Amino acid sequence: LLSNRLKSVASFLPKNAVFADIGSDHAYLPCFVCLNDIQAIAIAGEINEGPYQSAKRTVEELGLTERVQVRKGNGLEVVEQGEVGQVIVAGMGGSLISTILEQGKEKLKGTNRIITQPNVDALAIRKWFFNNDFKLVDELILEEDGHIYEILVADKGKEMVHYTNVNKQDEFLFGPFLLREKAVPFKQKWLSEKVKREQALNQMKKANVPDKAKIELFENEIKSIQEVLVND
Ligand code: SAM
Repeated sequence: LLSNRLKSVASFLPKNAVFADIGSDHAYLPCFVCLNDIQAIAIAGEINEGPYQSAKRTVEELGLTERVQVRKGNGLEVVEQGEVGQVIVAGMGGSLISTILEQGKEKLKGTNRIITQPNVDALAIRKWFFNNDFKLVDELILEEDGHIYEILVADKGKEMVHYTNVNKQDEFLFGPFLLREKAVPFKQKWLSEKVKREQALNQMKKANVPDKAKIELFENEIKSIQEVLVND
């Protein structure tokens, strides 16, 4: 059975999707999609031998070898330009996800939607979308088994709606959709992020040569988090 996290990621694919799942591990997500949508076609990309073999096994066991191709390689190097309409990168840190997108930029020319699920550092992905003409069209935050996950969905096209007002930096940090909604897991997440930053700040201030820029960044973020949590 697929986790709610991955089911939610999959829910942002169109019907009859032709898509790539980069860092697919067991290939559970593409197999789930293809079992539920007989027109869907997927590429499962994996850089590591172990997960690559697991992915191949899952696909064979489910009889999906005609529609889920498992390919070994780094990031988007496993797809040809224009080969897939949608790209999924889930279950990694936001900076790794944005590196994968950046290194595979050329391959994304025919891609109309990118769905990401960063475990941390969603901000790096929002910035990448913004700087690379993918506009954020939806965000979701959910809790499963004590973890909080964010899902960011962007479609090809210039960003015209978000990050335009005085709250630009806050919107990058919190996510414009998530900030508007302030769902329960959002509040849980930012309460714990605030505590983490306060603890880190205390440590930083004790250093022999305090990193002033970082201290200022953390102080500003703590202030922003406080405002977001209070103005509810
Ligand atoms: N996407 C699945 C999910 O969300 O449950 C698996 C997440 S798992 C934590 C991350 C997977 O990405 C691992 O199987 C790892 O081998 C793979 N991976 C990491 N860096 C990668 C890269 N540059 N290209 C392709 N796969 C990568």
